[in-house]
Amino acid sequence: MTNGNDGPSSVLQTALWNVQQTVRRLKLTDDIARRVIEPAERISIRIHPVIHDDGRMLHADVFLVRHNDVLGPTKGGIRMTPTVSLDEITGLAMEMTWKTSLIGVPFGGGKSGIRADPALLKPAEKEVLIRAFTRSVQRHVGPEIYVPAPDMGTNENDMGHIRDCISYSGGTSITTGCFVTGKPVLLGGIVGRREATGYGVVSTIAAACKHLNLNLSNFRVAIQGFGNVGSVTASAIAEQGACVVAVSDISGGTFCKDGLNVQKLIEHVKTTGKVKGFAGGKDISLDDVLETECDVLVPAATHSAITQKNAGLIHAKIIAEGANAPLTPQADDILIDHKVFIIPDILCNAGGVFVSYLEYTQETQRDQMTRTEVEHRLNNRMKSTFELVFNRAEKTRSTMRHAAMDIAVTRVVDGILARGLLP
Ligand code: GLU
Repeated sequence: MTNGNDGPSSVLQTALWNVQQTVRRLKLTDDIARRVIEPAERISIRIHPVIHDDGRMLHADVFLVRHNDVLGPTKGGIRMTPTVSLDEITGLAMEMTWKTSLIGVPFGGGKSGIRADPALLKPAEKEVLIRAFTRSVQRHVGPEIYVPAPDMGTNENDMGHIRDCISYSGGTSITTGCFVTGKPVLLGGIVGRREATGYGVVSTIAAACKHLNLNLSNFRVAIQGFGNVGSVTASAIAEQGACVVAVSDISGGTFCKDGLNVQKLIEHVKTTGKVKGFAGGKDISLDDVLETECDVLVPAATHSAITQKNAGLIHAKIIAEGANAPLTPQADDILIDHKVFIIPDILCNAGGVFVSYLEYTQETQRDQMTRTEVEHRLNNRMKSTFELVFNRAEKTRSTMRHAAMDIAVTRVVDGILARGLLP
């Protein structure tokens, strides 16, 4: 396993740093440490699907990593970006191992990637690419092997095509068991899956406020990233009375000191495709959003958004990691020194995979859950896991990230030992 081509602060490097520190704290033997850290399977495939209307071919690299399946079938989303690499997918798959373990669902960690720019694909082209991806990885996907879901650049529609592609290959209407989560509700998806990650982020922020004796309804919030996670977080936190003062996406940021009207901003993004130019706010730069005077900052865009260069400029009291690995280890150290309370990604954004688990069980049992049931179970699980991590951090005088990693990795080690070391 190399550190590859992701630059100095890649997801893989951050993930490796975090797990190596954990292995040291837990005093694991070298053999068990290797069993915990090294990915079980890393696959790279080249695909060449044909676009039917003009016979053109798309050429794309596809990656799939099953990091660890000790606690169950590997679970994790499909990332579609122009720069995604096997190393990035490896780091993200590792994060999924800790995330599923911490949030207490019987899954391991996996992830897959398609190197393409979804913004440049017409809907029919994206469908062709998604179906070609599905056929190429199908032998590595299944309810007992790896169960994909949406991630950056993929969505509910894409999951619908995956589900159809698999049942079509078998000549059946449905699949036996759950092959993919985050599907449209009509095709066996679960109500509330789209909102689950954002709702979970807000549940952990509310839990932090309770434990730190802070009042969420007085809060000023800045959100970096206005995709699925960022936009749902913004509306859910505004509903709790907090004031969303700054939001950004890749185009730039918008700011209003009295609070942005989140619903109008969502409408604006739907029509124009970007945050920039929103009439209800003042255009600001991406850096300004991170450096906004606020109580909570939610980095919900991509990895390594906060580095040693900008960490010192952050004013927030709480950072809630909506994205995976948004802080480099150096940034983490600086912010801890500045006494910022950080809700780590494997806890903060675990709501998505928790509700994916509900979808998996619903499909396996041919059941149907209501929105109230899903939201209730999500909120309870986020709160109880937050408490578990918070109490351990207090007891061991460590950070939330260290406490979360210690719990997650210990469970994986216990799983390895419970299974036994013989093949
Ligand atoms: N892509 C999401 C994540 O990073 C969800 C994964 C899933 O539901 O399997 O947590």
